[in-house]
Amino acid sequence: MLVTFIINECDFYNFLFYYKIMSYRDQENKGFASKVLHNIIVGLLDLLYPRICFGCNKSFDEEEKGYICQMCLESIQQNDSKRCYKCGLELGIGVYSTDNGCHECKRANLSFERGFFVSGYYGPLKEIISQYKYNKHEFLAKPLGDLLVEHLLCQGIVSEIDVIVPVPLHWKKKLKRGFNQSELIAKRISRELSIPISVNNLFHKKNTLSQTQLSRTERQKNVTDAFVVRKSKMFSKKQILLIDDVLTTGITASECARILIKAGAKKVFLLALARSRL
Ligand SMILES: [Zn+2]
Ligand SMILES: [Zn+2]
Repeated sequence: MLVTFIINECDFYNFLFYYKIMSYRDQENKGFASKVLHNIIVGLLDLLYPRICFGCNKSFDEEEKGYICQMCLESIQQNDSKRCYKCGLELGIGVYSTDNGCHECKRANLSFERGFFVSGYYGPLKEIISQYKYNKHEFLAKPLGDLLVEHLLCQGIVSEIDVIVPVPLHWKKKLKRGFNQSELIAKRISRELSIPISVNNLFHKKNTLSQTQLSRTERQKNVTDAFVVRKSKMFSKKQILLIDDVLTTGITASECARILIKAGAKKVFLLALARSRL
């Protein structure tokens, strides 16, 4: 186990080192000798650590930059499915949306006003989120945060938001993963759009079980009273943008929204990277 840990850590730091070097690629190299040396270093690094896209695992083209290739970016941003305006469920046969949401919203009695989703939870976006969360690639918070920023700008609601709040993670889970995935992307959005962020005022007080294996009733019971607001005044009459990574049933995000409204928030919007199929 220790050996695996060391190998993984080494790979990670090599990767960071590689990208650091790559960042100099576009800089003007003045002297002929330094240009040749630079090209040799970059060529060697290309051989040792080929740059690959985190969405499709294919090698990058020479001119492509960042962590996601152009094809994956386009396929994520197309977001061509029609979705429920509130819970983001893909509309289709037997699923339709009204002013109050779809049948799923009504069943779940969701507390947030409206949900915004970059895409469904499949394809390259699912792969990148999995690399981010489970392979602990913290640096993917940047491209994922940028996807959310672009999506939010297209919705025209930025001016309506007073404060950004990430869905909190219990400290034991945060310690195990090393970071809160929603918090890092929320920080990126806050920085890019100059909207204040509150990280610790909505607090995850109960170490809940993982929701993935639980039934709907068990999920609801699991998160009830799991969150608390420390200083209500901070959220009083505020329009809040709650940030989550993936929405499945929406029970966790809805419970956060309920607690925020109970603390005096005027409205809670939800912004998540992906909406999974039920
Ligand atoms: Zn790709
Ligand atoms: Zn819905």
